[in-house]
Amino acid sequence: MLTEKLLKTIQPASINVIDSSIKKSDYIPIDLSKNNNDLLQFDVSSSSAWEKYINDYLKSNQKELAYGGYLETRNLYDRSSYFNTVSKENQRNIHIGLDLWCPANTNVLAAFNGVVHSFNNNTNFGDYGPTIILKHQIDNFSFYTLYGHLSINSLEKLAKGKEVKQGEVIAQLGTAEVNGDYAPHLHFQIIIDIEEKEGDYPGVCSLKDLDFYTKNTIDPKLVLGLD
Ligand SMILES: [Zn+2]
Repeated sequence: MLTEKLLKTIQPASINVIDSSIKKSDYIPIDLSKNNNDLLQFDVSSSSAWEKYINDYLKSNQKELAYGGYLETRNLYDRSSYFNTVSKENQRNIHIGLDLWCPANTNVLAAFNGVVHSFNNNTNFGDYGPTIILKHQIDNFSFYTLYGHLSINSLEKLAKGKEVKQGEVIAQLGTAEVNGDYAPHLHFQIIIDIEEKEGDYPGVCSLKDLDFYTKNTIDPKLVLGLD
């Protein structure tokens, strides 16, 4: 199993995808599932209302970064036709990456040594905006990490095949104006088979496809040493 192989070769506590000036002791989990009744108290289709909710949550808990969302079922995608279809069974509302909520312009770091696989500005409403995918090889197995909701500048000076080192600054977080209209956050996802995708890969899936995506992704919390 790739997850076990990978975890044996790494030290999760030392891996950061967000500027290491934000210590992991200043991280706090956040529940953005449909079960969180707080989300009924504000307009979840508004990125500025989201930003206020996240900031208030961090302030009241005296933390600097809120994280969560792997395999979380969310209502927040209801606002965007990009995720919705006529048939309920194809509706995409299960999040398959980890979101790390902190201010725009925060540095994003490469999780592992690797190369740039691809990058793209995915501009659908509710999509990733600027996105980078890295390819990694550890021993004889390869996998990919995806970084979504970046700033426009993050895609300048990139080239496919460019080498990156673990912990290297590869990007900055984007604002709602460019990141698909969300409060600033990093969508971080670990993908085993990238299929034919370039600069994009589903970060939200339907119940029908959950089994496939559960097998084809790794819980980023394991890799980052988060509970
Ligand atoms: Zn996300």
